[in-house]
Amino acid sequence: MDILITGANRGLGLCLAKVGLENGHHIYAGVRSLDEKTTEPLAQLQETYKEKLEIVQLDVTDENSVIAATETIKRKNASLDGIINNAGILNEREKTIEELDLEACKLAFDINTLGPIRVIKHFLPLLEKGNKQSIINVSSEAGSLTNAYAGDYPYGLSKVAVNMLSEKLNVYLREKDIKVLSVHPGWMRTDMGGNKAPLDPMDTATGIFDMVERKKNVNNKYVFVDHHGRSMVI
Ligand code: NDP
Repeated sequence: MDILITGANRGLGLCLAKVGLENGHHIYAGVRSLDEKTTEPLAQLQETYKEKLEIVQLDVTDENSVIAATETIKRKNASLDGIINNAGILNEREKTIEELDLEACKLAFDINTLGPIRVIKHFLPLLEKGNKQSIINVSSEAGSLTNAYAGDYPYGLSKVAVNMLSEKLNVYLREKDIKVLSVHPGWMRTDMGGNKAPLDPMDTATGIFDMVERKKNVNNKYVFVDHHGRSMVI
């Protein structure tokens, strides 16, 4: 399969690239910046996987960058079988509503919500040419209405919106048999999750690929699931 992953240089995104390559897929690893330090972990993977791994500049806040990334892939006459919208930020963590910086809130929406929209808007034609296609939007239980807590305002709100985006896309794309899921990846040991988190992001990545490869068929009422494909409460 040909799979695009955003934010693929570290954390869950890097683990998704690793699992995808181990499973024999061709990975387009989207990275915000092509600087050497950022791409270093992917360059190391390329030593083993060669042309099965392509690093593509893709800043999800920049529509021109997204369009340029589609052109890069089109030049290779390629199609896509999967898009994993993984890139995300968690900012304004400890802030109360009175303390929120609205520009930081806009940035969270720009990356977490508009990012997947930009990517799907421009990559859908390539995905439509693929096989057994899926779109995975990496969400969070922080975007569940039953899990409201004081704090993480922009993050929680931007992930609720991701869940609605996924439901809407599912309605729009199910007749084309394009599978859409919004996945809570669990609390993982990454820069975002910190080192006290219980989950290894490699395990989450494996669970996500089970769904992408349709080893696990998920047909729940709503598309919000955990990395095992179990229903999450919207
Ligand atoms: P990290 O902070 O470890 O990694 C975030 C990734 O997103 C980096 O590769 C980063 O790139 C990339 N990114 C940020 N902004 C942009 C942008 N504008 N364009 C392209 N890429 C960008 O996060 P995790 O790996 O932990 O999180 C991955 C996903 O999982 C996120 O969507 C997150 O919300 C979700 N999640 C994570 C949880 C956890 O416990 N970790 C829990 C629930 C959900 P760069 O290096 O350039 O900054």
